Amino acid sequence: MNGKLQGKVAIVTGGNSGIGEATCHLFAKEGAKVLLLARRTNESLEVQNSINNAGGEATFIPCDVGNPDSVDTAIDKAAETYKTINILFNNAGGGGSGDFPDSSTEEWGQVINVNLNGTFYISRAVWPHLVAAGGGAVVNMSSLAAQRGFSPKMYDEFGTTAPSYYAAKAGVDALTRYMAGVGGKHNIRINGVRPGQIMTPGATRGTINDPDGGHHVFEKMFDMTQIIPGPGYPEDVANLVLFLVSDEARFITGEIINVDGGVAAKI
Ligand code: NAP
Repeated sequence: MNGKLQGKVAIVTGGNSGIGEATCHLFAKEGAKVLLLARRTNESLEVQNSINNAGGEATFIPCDVGNPDSVDTAIDKAAETYKTINILFNNAGGGGSGDFPDSSTEEWGQVINVNLNGTFYISRAVWPHLVAAGGGAVVNMSSLAAQRGFSPKMYDEFGTTAPSYYAAKAGVDALTRYMAGVGGKHNIRINGVRPGQIMTPGATRGTINDPDGGHHVFEKMFDMTQIIPGPGYPEDVANLVLFLVSDEARFITGEIINVDGGVAAKI
């Protein structure tokens, strides 16, 4: 039986953990050849091998998305590996620990670099390959932080992530709309996803396998603001990403879709 991505070649950045890992597995299950880009070797090889052992096809390519030279080398290797590139999921990223107005210059730069510059560096390098393939699909990883703020009471009770993260993900949203405009004539669709409370190693205290199930760092805030109770899981986001890169979404571009249990509808 043919999968939804049969014969396609898909790059997933940050594919060795959390949302990226779940997406690598789902893409492979749907017939894609998966190129997993990340920095840590052991974690990446584990995902690669588990996909290949299950009968799928995956290749790990080391890459720091915040370093343009590393990106260009990795994308050259990616293009050589399966001779074409059809799909890109710009997922690599994460929050910062700073606060306002005390964030350091270093923290600001690091978070903007990985989340926003990284999305630009990778997209710029992959773009000619998508054009050469006659088109393709890109999904950029945003966050509710790009779209929503907080009240002083929410801030005092629940805290929040660094201002750099809000700015970086809002920048990703703007880049998504821009790239969608440029992609039209090349048959390249660009969309985004905005997750809320998703249980991943990067966003939980403790682990999901803890006796108490682990907790999202902003669990209390999300539990106050969601319509659907309880946390989301990496697969919830991966399912949306799969839809957006598949032919089922052929008439959708320039959209950024929330996957957050209804937070955006409620506040
Ligand atoms: P995670 O489990 O910590 O995964 C983060 C991934 O990004 C890892 O694979 C990591 O691999 C990779 N990465 C980080 N910096 C990188 C770099 N410089 N170059 C290449 N890869 C890099 O976290 P996650 O929650 O799945 O996060 C995935 C994305 O979802 C992030 O962009 C995050 O901002 C976004 N998001 C998450 C949530 C949530 O609640 N979980 C909500 C909204 C948005 P290496 O360290 O090996 O490089």
